[in-house]
Amino acid sequence: MLDAPMSLHEIQSRLDAATAASGRAPGSVTLIAVSKVQPDDRVHQVLTQGQRVFGENYVQEAAGKWPAFRAAFPGVQLHMIGPLQTNKAKQAVELFDVIQSVDRLSLAEKLARLAQARGTSPDLFIQVNTGAEPQKAGILPQHLDGFLVQVRGMDLPPQGLMCIPPEGVDPVPHFRALADMAARNGLKGLSMGMSSDFEAAVAHGATHIRVGSALFGARTYA
Ligand SMILES: *Cc1c(COP(=O)(O)O)cnc(C)c1O
Repeated sequence: MLDAPMSLHEIQSRLDAATAASGRAPGSVTLIAVSKVQPDDRVHQVLTQGQRVFGENYVQEAAGKWPAFRAAFPGVQLHMIGPLQTNKAKQAVELFDVIQSVDRLSLAEKLARLAQARGTSPDLFIQVNTGAEPQKAGILPQHLDGFLVQVRGMDLPPQGLMCIPPEGVDPVPHFRALADMAARNGLKGLSMGMSSDFEAAVAHGATHIRVGSALFGARTYA
């Protein structure tokens, strides 16, 4: 964990440099500021500096802080990046613009029913468990293509894929694998790369990076 956070400007500069170094168009990678369990005054500070795209892991926590922030700062885009319980799906679709953690059929079915009923849906990413870690959420790589067929059959077109590589290993093979899976399935969105490895993720095609501790400081869980 990085304990001295960098300014938004500094992170954005590093992102811009990585984007340019990869020969990609300026602004083609979205910085998601991951604000889970961060104090409201830090989030407020980053909003004041101009950041509008945020990620949260817990529906309850997001419901507690984002309605007021949204009212005060127009243009906020909120991404759900944590595991989503089916019984929280309704609240989640009302709160989030993007849900990145679609990881099982029962959740996709619930989201499809909600989309039918509401006539609209957040953008959806499928979370892939690229390291096949038992404790981690996500569709296993070998099940992804079949899962995508099922989800598309529900009239629920996903925008991309998301992964969280295992800790303590080189993330690059995971970034490559996710990019391959997206390409062969015709998906444009690639949410990968966090505080410690976002530049490598950009080099391998990330369209969204999720940066928490580098921007806000280490998280202290109550
Ligand atoms: C917490 C979290 C992040 C941010 O991690 P940092 O290492 O603090 O940048 C990114 N993605 C997901 C899914 C997370 O849960």
